Amino acid sequence: MKEAKKYKTTCCYCGVGCGIVATDLGNGKIHVEGDKEHPVNKGMLCSKGMNLHYTVNDKSDRLLYPQMRMNRSMPMQRSTWDETLDRTAAIFKTFINKYGPDSVGFYVSGQCLTEEYYLWNKLMKGFIGSNNIDTNSRLCMSSAVVGYKLSLGEDSVPVCYDDIEESDCILVEGANPAWCHPIIWRRVEAHKAASPNVKIITVDPRRTQTASASDVHLQINPGSDVTLNHAIGRILIENDWLDNDFLKNHTDGFEEYRTKVFEKTLTESAEICGVDEKSILKTAKLIANAKGFLSMWTMGLNQSVIGVNKNLSLINLSLITGKIGKAGNGPFSLTGQPNAMGGREVGGLANMLASHREIANPQHRTEMEEFWGGNKISDKIGLTATEMFKSLEEGKLKAIWIVCTNPMVSLPDSRMAELAMKNAKFVVVQDISNRADTIKFADVVLPAAAWAEKEGTMTNAERRISYLNKIVDAPGEALPDAEIICRFAKKMGWGAKFTYENFSEIYHEFTQTTKGTNIDITGVSYELLKEKTIQWPYTNAEEKVKSSIGTKRLFQNGEFYTPNKRAKIHAVPDENLSEKLSQDFPLILLTGRIRDQWHTMTKTARVNKLNQHLPIPYVEIHPNDAKKRNILEEEIVEIKGKRGDVKVKAKITDEVKQGTCFLPMHWGRVLGNDFGRANNLTSNLVDARSKEPDFKFSAVEVTKYVKS
Ligand code: SF4
Repeated sequence: MKEAKKYKTTCCYCGVGCGIVATDLGNGKIHVEGDKEHPVNKGMLCSKGMNLHYTVNDKSDRLLYPQMRMNRSMPMQRSTWDETLDRTAAIFKTFINKYGPDSVGFYVSGQCLTEEYYLWNKLMKGFIGSNNIDTNSRLCMSSAVVGYKLSLGEDSVPVCYDDIEESDCILVEGANPAWCHPIIWRRVEAHKAASPNVKIITVDPRRTQTASASDVHLQINPGSDVTLNHAIGRILIENDWLDNDFLKNHTDGFEEYRTKVFEKTLTESAEICGVDEKSILKTAKLIANAKGFLSMWTMGLNQSVIGVNKNLSLINLSLITGKIGKAGNGPFSLTGQPNAMGGREVGGLANMLASHREIANPQHRTEMEEFWGGNKISDKIGLTATEMFKSLEEGKLKAIWIVCTNPMVSLPDSRMAELAMKNAKFVVVQDISNRADTIKFADVVLPAAAWAEKEGTMTNAERRISYLNKIVDAPGEALPDAEIICRFAKKMGWGAKFTYENFSEIYHEFTQTTKGTNIDITGVSYELLKEKTIQWPYTNAEEKVKSSIGTKRLFQNGEFYTPNKRAKIHAVPDENLSEKLSQDFPLILLTGRIRDQWHTMTKTARVNKLNQHLPIPYVEIHPNDAKKRNILEEEIVEIKGKRGDVKVKAKITDEVKQGTCFLPMHWGRVLGNDFGRANNLTSNLVDARSKEPDFKFSAVEVTKYVKS
């Protein structure tokens, strides 16, 4: 037995990016505790983080060796890495030769490490010659990416967590950090407890734990965020609670915005939002009087058919008040996944290239072609997440390689996703365990190393890059994802461009793509990251502090990343384009997370302590809606929509608004036999610009379940 040894690493669940000290117990098992020296969590961990070691120690459901089958009616057979990757490469080559490079696709994950994300993109865009690589992060933050780009000139989060303690007005819109980003929320709570003048406003159709702890809860009707933000903007303008110097010197678009927000009276807006005028006035006043105004948001804004407009309307409030680029001020999109930000850095979206370059920009394509020295990069935007599965369903996309994600549970309109998988000619699933529902559709299954079994880097929501240590060996023949990609690239004939001595070399190659860009991290190396976390950009010239270096805040000089260096205020339309309610489907379904589960539960459901919080799926329904339908507490109900149905227990609560209901997003077939798969019901509409689905607004009806 080896001696117990401690390693610093980073939590692999959410985008907060908490530091962890993991102890290798010497018997293949580890134990975790919060890293007291880490600038993000200062030793704290939430329920998921503090139980992370169970997901490593329990190897009972792990994939141990490659498997494949000649057709889907046959059982999977164990094979070797060489045999499996030879066959996979041969099939990919056949499709590419016969139907062109756009006949294949990679669907990856915001849980991939930066090195892996970079290699997947290099392989597809720089060598296969297609841009058909997208990520499950498309489902959670792509509206924020577009929002930042349109308003600030680039996908750049301007703030940091330390701004929490510098602010005195925190507006949380479409987010429940108390459950979904718990360590951020603990910092908010501690700040409020220490400084009673700090005010928290929450905008959410549900009375969540965050909303309950807030000074103001604007319990708006789903889909009315833009109307609310415009109403706040109108009050700020009417009272001249603006920063006129900032508007004049650093922004464009204010006059169009003024006209837009005056289209509705406060009374009209309050009625559309379903909240009282006084609360909107109070909110505007709190923002105006704040020395530090921080807005925070996640899925309530992003996962919407008008997600980009929702983002822009909120960012506008920081711009018209000039509350950006200063300590305690700015718009802060919180990321759901641990490396959603790292994925954005390497160009992990179907329309992006490394270091915030864009496929649509010929110069950017040329730069990356020259850097990679591979094939010509296609000028055709690749298929985004939902488009990829639609294309499989239609038989256009032939082969898909799914990495570290479970689309059968996480994509909207699950029945379409299931049809897509059935129609796919060739499916590769690369994962750590056999819990992913997607595996039953696979032709090839590849076992991957899990967190703590491989090294690499991730970037959290505040642009902070952290190093993750390898602590124990992966079980069986499981390999780090980066190694799997390189082995496959060699089988495809590009071995010379995918040969690395170690993971540090891969990271170094990626950092060189950032040279001269706004996310320049050419000063960052594994050596440095093993000592400190770093917020990009970092080129070696910034102030150095104990455990953190780099750039805390962007735009402090009032210059933005737009061509004329001025931020753009967008006068966005405030109509909601979600699915229409009808007599058959009169209720609005919202979906979301619960405190102790993560995504499709493939990791968290292995931890008994986490399952105890809310062990089975349920639907929250308002007492008046339940009464109208004779539904009793805990009774099994059927929720029906245009695309499918689910059956779950009813939880009658006025935490949801009348006319709406809420279903957790986590349960799927393997773990919940389809009873609670929320995405059976969700809308297949997406935002026109971000392509992010409308998870928070689907038309349904809820009735008593009568067994036939
Ligand atoms: Fe992990 Fe997020 Fe919890 Fe921190 S807040 S311990 S990163 S799940």
